[in-house]
Amino acid sequence: MRQSTSHRLRGAIFLFIAAALCAVAARDFLAARCDEPLFPARGATVKRLSDYFAPLRGTRADGEVFIFEGREPGGTMLVLGGTHPNEVAGFLAACILVENAVVSRGRLIVVPRANHSAFTHTEPGEALPSHFEIETPGGKREFRVGCRFTSPLDQWPDPEVYLHYPSGQRLSGNETRNMNRAYPGRADGDFTERAAFAVTSLVQREKVDLVIDLHESSPEYPVINAIVAHERAMDLAALAALSLQGEGLALSLESSPANFHGLTHRELGDATTALAVLLESANIMQGRLRGRTTAEKILSGKDGGYLKAARANLLRVPYDSSGISIETRVGRHLAGVRALTEALTTLFPDRSVCLEGIPALAEVQAKGVGAYLAAKTRSSE
Ligand SMILES: [Zn+2]
Repeated sequence: MRQSTSHRLRGAIFLFIAAALCAVAARDFLAARCDEPLFPARGATVKRLSDYFAPLRGTRADGEVFIFEGREPGGTMLVLGGTHPNEVAGFLAACILVENAVVSRGRLIVVPRANHSAFTHTEPGEALPSHFEIETPGGKREFRVGCRFTSPLDQWPDPEVYLHYPSGQRLSGNETRNMNRAYPGRADGDFTERAAFAVTSLVQREKVDLVIDLHESSPEYPVINAIVAHERAMDLAALAALSLQGEGLALSLESSPANFHGLTHRELGDATTALAVLLESANIMQGRLRGRTTAEKILSGKDGGYLKAARANLLRVPYDSSGISIETRVGRHLAGVRALTEALTTLFPDRSVCLEGIPALAEVQAKGVGAYLAAKTRSSE
């Protein structure tokens, strides 16, 4: 009798420990499904992608859409962040636009979490941190790292071969969850194709003149610190690249390959009247040469493996022991957005957009990304 009581007690203790572990895991799992709040600058109208494609409502594809409208009529530009949420500079640059933009002419539309589902998990097998923190004047703000792909909880299983619609291009099966291989998307497609379809519908319905998709890539990848432009956007991108080079910011100009399908700069350029470009900054987290990835490393861009690779002349961008910081990467994206906005105004005065309040690269480098993110308390003002 005494032995059975002790068994029961031991069982109860194990059950209690298991329940406690489940509670902790469930808390983290559910937290990854709650968006960190953004604090839009004055005058923003907040919509969602489901306002452009209703079936997204209530799904994890339904990202926020922030619209800033100037008093004077002009053009409309769309900035996409978080097409690949693990490319954190693209997401953070979009956040800075949302939280600082002042538009006096034309319209700026920002979708900071373009692939919203991909923010809810990290890449399996990469041992990535789930979060990183940015110090702001009002305290730390925490952001998720995210993944290149739509969560398998939203779209599974992957096929052996991914057939892009409508081109029929064949890619590896896991690319079926890559939003930047899913454009223009389709209303009756899989989860990622429907999310891409919502963005394409937004571009069409809002009569977007210029789409800028913000990305990052590894320092050994050929297309890096670059503007990739659809052929109709090539003059605009060349003017922006020249202007940035005049300021000492090297940016290569790449043309969107006509036969590489599913990407924003190809498909939005083909399927809509918008001029479509993509900006790439250099992030060691994207590459295979890095050592253990920590939240600090995601922000500092410092890594011993990449330092060795730079000394062996294997990288496509300058790299030294100071790394490539989040300030430099976000600042480059913001400089690219500004230069492209100015080029739009120069080449198409009737479609001009006047965008202010966005810090220059040197300002972001000097003060940090957090200086341009709202304090967590703004919502209570
Ligand atoms: Zn990317």
